[in-house]
Amino acid sequence: MVSINLPRLKESLLELAKIGFNPEDKGIYRSGFTDADMEARRWLMELAKQDGFEASMDGAGNVWLGLGELTQPAVVIGSHLDSVPAGGVFDGSLGVMAGLEVLRTVKENKLELTHPLRVLGTSEEEGRFGGMFGVQAVTGDLTPEWILSAHDADGIFLADAMREQGLDPMAALDAAWPAEKMKAYLELHIEQGPVLDTQGIPLGVVEGISGVFKWIVHLKGKADHAGTAPMDMRSDAFMGLADFAHEIQRIIDEVGTDKSRITVGKVELKPGYPHTVPGEAIFTIVGRDMSEDIMEELAEACERALRAIARRHRLRFDYEQVSWLGPSYCTPSVIELMEERAKARDWQFLRMPSGAGHDVQFFTKMTDAGLIFIPSVNGVSHAPDEWSHWHHIEMGTNLLLDCVLEKAR
Ligand SMILES: [Zn+2]
Repeated sequence: MVSINLPRLKESLLELAKIGFNPEDKGIYRSGFTDADMEARRWLMELAKQDGFEASMDGAGNVWLGLGELTQPAVVIGSHLDSVPAGGVFDGSLGVMAGLEVLRTVKENKLELTHPLRVLGTSEEEGRFGGMFGVQAVTGDLTPEWILSAHDADGIFLADAMREQGLDPMAALDAAWPAEKMKAYLELHIEQGPVLDTQGIPLGVVEGISGVFKWIVHLKGKADHAGTAPMDMRSDAFMGLADFAHEIQRIIDEVGTDKSRITVGKVELKPGYPHTVPGEAIFTIVGRDMSEDIMEELAEACERALRAIARRHRLRFDYEQVSWLGPSYCTPSVIELMEERAKARDWQFLRMPSGAGHDVQFFTKMTDAGLIFIPSVNGVSHAPDEWSHWHHIEMGTNLLLDCVLEKAR
């Protein structure tokens, strides 16, 4: 049985991890369309070209590496190259570099394949501008309106960030692939949760991905002197936010499931001065569930709660829905293939849902698509101390290789 070369994969992964690395907090800073993000993309294309593979960037900033002519539908191996601020070494990067390692292994062993292979390093998956940008360009889900209206939490527009990097935002629409040109899409990713690590299982075969929505909420009251404004005469925006935080568990208990999640992850108070009653609270709400109906109920319940809270505290309430992505399910035949290949190597695996969004979710309606997880140590992710063991990385990449070969022969 052909296997991947772990030292070679390790070297490439650690080389990539230097790009956007901040020695102060040991985190990786490669948010979508930042200089570091673009540097990583150019680095990867150079690396692949040195090995004799095709390498190019499409209009959405996605990197494509290739082996074999596109005379037959391609087997695509993908994940994302961008990171959250202060992110870890393996989130996204693992899947892309494992893809390159599969190409290297196939080439080195001169394996004869019927279908060409492509490695896809997607752009802006992590959500600076709403997330899943590059993959939606490939699956043809982008619209011009979306490209022009998307902006980050600091008010920087996606189109401007792209232009700054020498990309024409509208060219992202040209990145779409026809479904008939793709044979399958396979992804390897770290679990980013504690399940595999806690249970001591080296591999996860993912059955589906929770849907997710993101809002930016504004509560506007009145900034007052913290000493002269009596408590009962304030329009304190922070009090509204605090009340909402207490409503979250009730909302999940009433309309959610054990797979529901609601998170307030970013908060800004204005004017943000210790001696001033905060006149404005701007914060994000991110909600998830495996059912789109439940997601709608969660969103409605959040809106109802915020309206009531705003009345109570004399605040103006409005929100912007930055993104809404429904849940998706991996292809049953790919799930079976992954399980069968894991059994062939005598490896234990767990069939499991994914609470986090991944590029694969957009391919599920376009082609045969599947996702492999490996354990995250202590379940830590989106943080500098995110880690996965090298022997798990080797197993995951070998399982990916086996499935790619099966699909491409
Ligand atoms: Zn990721």
